[in-house]
Amino acid sequence: MQFKSAYLQGVYDSVCKRNPHEPEFLQAVGEVLESFEPVVEKRPDIVEKGVIDRMVEPERMIMFRVSWVDDNGKVQVNRGYRVQFNSAIGPYKGGCRFHPSVNLSIIKFLGFEQTFKNSLTTLPMGGGKGGSDFNPKGKSDNEIMRFCQSFMTELAKHIGPDTDVPAGDIGVGAREVGYMFGQYKRLRNEFTGVLTGKGLTFGGSLARTEATGYGLLYFTEEMLNCMKNDSIKGKTIVVSGSGNVAIYATEKATELGGKVVAMSDSDGYVFDANGIDLDVMKQIKEVERARISEYAKRVAGAEYHEGCAGIWGVKCDVALPCATQNELDGESANKLIANGVIAVAEGANMPCTPEAINAFHSNGVLYAPGKASNAGGVAVSGLEMSQNSMRYSWSFDEVDEKLKGIMKNIFHASYDAAKEFGLNDNIMAGANIAGFLKVAAAMIAQGVAY
Ligand code: NAP
Repeated sequence: MQFKSAYLQGVYDSVCKRNPHEPEFLQAVGEVLESFEPVVEKRPDIVEKGVIDRMVEPERMIMFRVSWVDDNGKVQVNRGYRVQFNSAIGPYKGGCRFHPSVNLSIIKFLGFEQTFKNSLTTLPMGGGKGGSDFNPKGKSDNEIMRFCQSFMTELAKHIGPDTDVPAGDIGVGAREVGYMFGQYKRLRNEFTGVLTGKGLTFGGSLARTEATGYGLLYFTEEMLNCMKNDSIKGKTIVVSGSGNVAIYATEKATELGGKVVAMSDSDGYVFDANGIDLDVMKQIKEVERARISEYAKRVAGAEYHEGCAGIWGVKCDVALPCATQNELDGESANKLIANGVIAVAEGANMPCTPEAINAFHSNGVLYAPGKASNAGGVAVSGLEMSQNSMRYSWSFDEVDEKLKGIMKNIFHASYDAAKEFGLNDNIMAGANIAGFLKVAAAMIAQGVAY
């Protein structure tokens, strides 16, 4: 990557040299550094204090063996990770991902992005991320429990309610968080808010399950309102994925008057011209944990197509990628543009490749980056931490109202920062800058250790 600023070029080159086999991490760092060109011009103190040099290196990385016994009595071995990226503004905070593709590069890119996202929420949370290359698909409940217990046996040494507070992500939902919480409590003999996304009977927050998807729609609605004088009402929408984020994005989009016509999983996508029947989708995905192809067997008129990338060929006004990183490339972006898409908002982390983002920017498509538009999940996790500390819980509506306020603020903070630094309507650069400046101020105030 080429930068105008020699300083940023130096930072990027040294990150490449230090992390040569980590393409996702380099992609995430490159995208953020590109946004900092006007910052380094206006703020020489940030350069002098080495803030950016420090931010691209995690404070701590932990890798560990996770051995567990499967239902046939055979010993299995996976690798566990926790990357504690930045604690300038609060305890490390970020989810855990269980998926066979997990490696250090993926956990580092997620931890890096999380630092900016958490700052944007305005809540006191640093950035971190963890996970394992464990594949939960096809495992029995008991196998999941034994894996989670083994994973937490090591992780417990490194986390705590004032140190590092993990949560869910791909492959880690309420069931996995429950098993991990139980093991932490057994090991420590203490009942604390050490994880978020907990069950409602033991400290979980109402609206946490819905938060990322709902928050994505609150953000998108505000963006359409402010930048196009438009709204979700009457829009045709495509949502990729059919996990936690995708399901609740679809629910809120429908509630706001939009029509979601397609959803996917890693095998393929379904198209339903009448609008996705979410009760059927929830039954298949949340209850039966089955494949999305089932949907077309159960709903008259719905079609199933093999291959998940095909979903971007479906004509829509608004596209919401909610599955995984780099799922929407330049070619898919061009299909969406040719079909007249007006806005793309990321529910997943880094789902659009740099080529896709460039295509949206150069064709006047509104583009909302995940670190801003999917921050609703961690925002409600922050509210769960507050409720746990108070030993009190807010109603669903109270949490939902706070979430709505936070998402609107994140949009305006990103939009205003883009304007202030002369970046027009580039919400991505605005989000990077707004998230960064708060962390930078804290890092400068706290000094450098000698
Ligand atoms: P989830 O419930 O596990 O669902 C993930 C969905 O994405 C599933 O439909 C899955 O399909 C699909 N998927 C996963 N890997 C894929 C791949 N390599 N190719 C194509 N599809 C793939 O996870 P989630 O919590 O909804 O998370 C989705 C995204 O949102 C992730 O990027 C995550 O980091 C981000 N995010 C989540 C939260 C949160 O609160 N959960 C907050 C912020 C951001 P299969 O079932 O076929 O694998």
